[in-house]
Amino acid sequence: MMEKASLLTVPQIHLEMPSPMLPDGTQAVILTHDVDWPRKGPGIEHILSRSARFDPKIITKVKSEGFNPYYGVQTIAEIEEQFGIKSTFFFRPTYDDGSKVDEYKDTIRALIKNGWEVGLHANNTSSVEAVKSEKNSLERIAGKQISGSRVHYLRVSSDTFRNLAEAKIKYDSSITFDKESIDARNSGCLFKNRVAVFPITFMDAYLFTYMGLTEKTITKFILKKMRELFSSGVQIMTILWHDNSIMMKGGRIYSNLIKDMCAQMDVTFLKGIEAFELVA
Ligand SMILES: [Zn+2]
Repeated sequence: MMEKASLLTVPQIHLEMPSPMLPDGTQAVILTHDVDWPRKGPGIEHILSRSARFDPKIITKVKSEGFNPYYGVQTIAEIEEQFGIKSTFFFRPTYDDGSKVDEYKDTIRALIKNGWEVGLHANNTSSVEAVKSEKNSLERIAGKQISGSRVHYLRVSSDTFRNLAEAKIKYDSSITFDKESIDARNSGCLFKNRVAVFPITFMDAYLFTYMGLTEKTITKFILKKMRELFSSGVQIMTILWHDNSIMMKGGRIYSNLIKDMCAQMDVTFLKGIEAFELVA
């Protein structure tokens, strides 16, 4: 296949090692969710100006109760719970409206108590101090150590991994080499500055935009690509599904996706930290 060098998101990052070989037949999927919006959501104006993205029933609730459909953590956890799955949620220490992750304290504590993992959705990885400070804020709210990260907007720089390593982040999942197609390079695990890096294989936003998929086509597409990748020797893939998309048209098919993956594929679902423990 042709190399699409121009599409590399982070051409300056040279990853050091290929995926470690896991036991034959390993077919693992890391499920991850980025929590991009503050607990209160983006505000009614923002939602109403995008009302076509939602079912009219949701818009009615937004208008009558101030319902925030961008808060999807609970819905995602309920879907996963039905299938005995636990995943990783990445939270930002500070949100765009200036609010803090403190507003997610109950959510975060409940996730951890019930077996989900909470990771750092880093706003700033430009210095070790910046990473440490963000990690500390999240750890204070979580009441435990944070091991994994994903950089918001996948805005990775050449120092990111060194800074993450120094701040004792064990694994990261911010790399994508290709937004426009499902690519074996976006799978498995690589190492950079001793940080295990799990590239993002499938991301909701890219699937619905760059790849033009719809609610009708997406589940079949993902399952087909997963089969192709697993049969080509890939052993670990990473899925990113944003919590703010779970009630939107498109993103709301997550429950079907999980159901069909469970019914039709022989895969093990992992939290990021479990994947790290496999490759470490
Ligand atoms: Zn983000």
